[in-house]
Amino acid sequence: MAFYVRVSTEGQARVAEGSLKNQEQMLASELRRRNAGGAWGRLVGSYVDGGFSGSSIDRPEFKRLLADVERGAIDAIFFTELSRLSRSLKDFLGIFEFTQQHNCDLVCLKTEIDTTSPFSNLVVRILMVFAEFERDMTADRIRRNAYERSKRGLAYGGFEPLGYKRDPEHKGRLLVDTEEAKLVRDIFQTYLRKCSLLETLRVLKNQYDHPKIQKLSRNGIYGILTSRVYIGIREIKTTEGTEEVPGAWQAIITDKTFEQVREVLSGNGPGPRSPRHNYIFSGLIRCARCDKKLQGKSGTGRSGQVRYYYAHPGRCAEGGLHSIEAEDAHKLVDEWLARLAIDKEYFNELLEVGRKDWANSCGLSNPG
Ligand SMILES: [Zn+2]
Repeated sequence: MAFYVRVSTEGQARVAEGSLKNQEQMLASELRRRNAGGAWGRLVGSYVDGGFSGSSIDRPEFKRLLADVERGAIDAIFFTELSRLSRSLKDFLGIFEFTQQHNCDLVCLKTEIDTTSPFSNLVVRILMVFAEFERDMTADRIRRNAYERSKRGLAYGGFEPLGYKRDPEHKGRLLVDTEEAKLVRDIFQTYLRKCSLLETLRVLKNQYDHPKIQKLSRNGIYGILTSRVYIGIREIKTTEGTEEVPGAWQAIITDKTFEQVREVLSGNGPGPRSPRHNYIFSGLIRCARCDKKLQGKSGTGRSGQVRYYYAHPGRCAEGGLHSIEAEDAHKLVDEWLARLAIDKEYFNELLEVGRKDWANSCGLSNPG
């Protein structure tokens, strides 16, 4: 195990309370106390960042610490308070995930974070679910802003589609890039001749050295062939479906060609798989038997239908389920969170288990 101590400024490093020396002494006495009740662990070393802020994880000693955790040299990190490790919830959750992956516990002296305790583990996992939720909400806000812009037929920020370049004078407008537009037309024509995405890809890669062609994948070709950008239409994806408005740019492909390609594509089967499923609990739900984390996966079943599920890594040694349908898993977590929110008794029960556990891990006999 290891100590991690940090202060932001040189000035702080010198004052007694919270100084580097003081933090180290507190950790040392905590370790002595824990070791008195049975061998808890041997100190590998102290990692000391003086003069670095907790708002970023870009700290030399912290990085060295994580590297040592990664190579399995450290199985627990002691620190005085959460803010020493990180001042950002996002960073903390990242650190938590990383240390869990490498079987390293986090032990905090002043706050109830102690991953050797199942209860604070539970708290952290709930936090992670909410952090994920918050990320989704932020993404939703960004989408809504983009929607307002797109209503005016303006292009998204980010990459411009093959065949276009940004208009330096009008933000959100696209100009036809003559050289690339030729490539786009050739993609459509080649596909109409070959009627196969892979064949089209092969022909084009033989014909053009252009880096954007060399980088194309089967999915990329499919994306281009189905993008209504090329017939001058701005598509707006909303929860109700797709809206179309005239784009603030010129078409490269005629409606007729686009329609022909669409027909061939639909006759050729469904094309590449639809966008990935949102596995919101990937790595957060665990096997009840062996506690291993389940990961979101998709695959095509015997009936040819795509299946979304969470899978157990390898075979469960304790005979747990190999996989669970994503929808079922989401329902179960939903129900559990809902129960936690309304069933006060159940919540208190969990709290009590946690308190006892916390008290045990602190060596207290009578928890407050
Ligand atoms: Zn298992």
